[in-house]
Amino acid sequence: MQYRATLIPGDGIGPEVVDAAVRVVDAAGVRIEWERVEAGADVFLKHGTAMPDEALNSIRKTRVALKGPIGTPIGGGFKSANVLMRQALDLYACVRPIRTLAGLPSRFQNVDFIIVRENTEGLYSGLEHRVAPGVVESLKVVTEVASLRIARYAFELARGQGRATVTAIHKANIMKLSDGLFLECVRRVARDYPEIAMKEMIIDNCAMQLVTKPEQFDVLVMDNLYGDILSDLGAGLVGGLGIVPGSNIGLECAVFEAVHGSAPDLAGKNKANPTAVIRSAAQLVGHIGERSAAERIEKAVAAALADPRNHTGDLGGKATTKDLTDAIVRHLAD
Ligand code: ATP
Repeated sequence: MQYRATLIPGDGIGPEVVDAAVRVVDAAGVRIEWERVEAGADVFLKHGTAMPDEALNSIRKTRVALKGPIGTPIGGGFKSANVLMRQALDLYACVRPIRTLAGLPSRFQNVDFIIVRENTEGLYSGLEHRVAPGVVESLKVVTEVASLRIARYAFELARGQGRATVTAIHKANIMKLSDGLFLECVRRVARDYPEIAMKEMIIDNCAMQLVTKPEQFDVLVMDNLYGDILSDLGAGLVGGLGIVPGSNIGLECAVFEAVHGSAPDLAGKNKANPTAVIRSAAQLVGHIGERSAAERIEKAVAAALADPRNHTGDLGGKATTKDLTDAIVRHLAD
C-alpha cells in the first residue's frame, strides 16, 4: 500500500529532524509518497505569509502531514504559521502524550498522561488591539461549540484507550465567564461517559501537582494557552522537549509535529534530538492505519534510547542527530 502525505520541513532544526523521521518511516517499511511543501520564516520573506496557501492546500488534499517546527517572532513580525494552520484547517484538538520512556533519565518514572489542548481559540484568537496609548487588550475567546467538541474529543480518547479519568484544567475562579463556560461544557460532556471520572483542577494547582505527583494524571483537557505551557512542563518531566510528540487533529485533516520549536541555536549542527519528530511520524503512521509499524517505531526509539551512547546533547550525551537516527533504524531491522 502506498500512501500520500504532506511534508513541511520547517525552520531551524526542522529539516534535519524531519529528514530523520522520513528515514525511520521508510525503514519501518511504510511506503509514503511525501509531497514536500515549504512554510516558515524564509517563505514569509518571499510570499508575505509563513503558511502559504500551497502548503494548506496540499494538506487539504493529502489530509495528513508531518510538520517540522516553524519559529514565531516575539513581540512583532509575522503571525504564527502554526496558529494560522491550526485555525485554517480547523485542527481543533492538539494531543500530546507525556510518558516516561524506559532507559531514559528523567525526574520521574511511571508518568503516563495525555494533554488534550483546545487548538483554535482562547487567547490565541489573535484579537489584540491598542485601546489608548499604554493600554492594550487581548481577547480570550471561548465558545460553547469549541469547548464541547474538545471535551468530547478528550472523553472519546479516554474511552478508546481505557483510561479512567479526565481532568479539566481551568481558572474559572478568576475568569468566571470564559473559563466558567469551558468548565461547564466539560461537565456536560462528562455525563455521557459514566465509566470515566471527571475531575477539575485550577491551572496553578495543576502546575504544582505536575511537578510533585505527575503519576496521578491521566487525560487532561484544557484551553489553548494552558495547553501550550503545560505541554512544555510535561516534556520536562519525561526527558525534555526533544522527546515528546504531538498531533493536531481536525475532522478533515491531521498534522503531526513535535512539541518543541525550531531551536535556532542548534540548527544545521547535526545536534538536535530527532526523537520527538520521529515519534510524531509514528503517530502519523498509526493514524493512516499502519498500527503495527507505528508500534515498531516506538519500540525501536525506546530501544535506541535505552543505550546512553545514543543520547544527544539535550539528554546529556554526545550522539549526533544522525547517530541516534542510525541506531533507531538498526533496531527496526532487529
Ligand atoms: P521557537 O521560537 O521556534 O519556539 P525556541 O528555541 O524559542 O524556538 P524551542 O525550540 O521549543 O524554542 O526550544 C527551546 C530550547 O530547547 C532550544 O533552544 C534547544 O536548546 C532545546 N530544544 C528544543 N528542541 C530540541 C531538540 N529537538 N533537540 C535538542 N534540543 C532541543
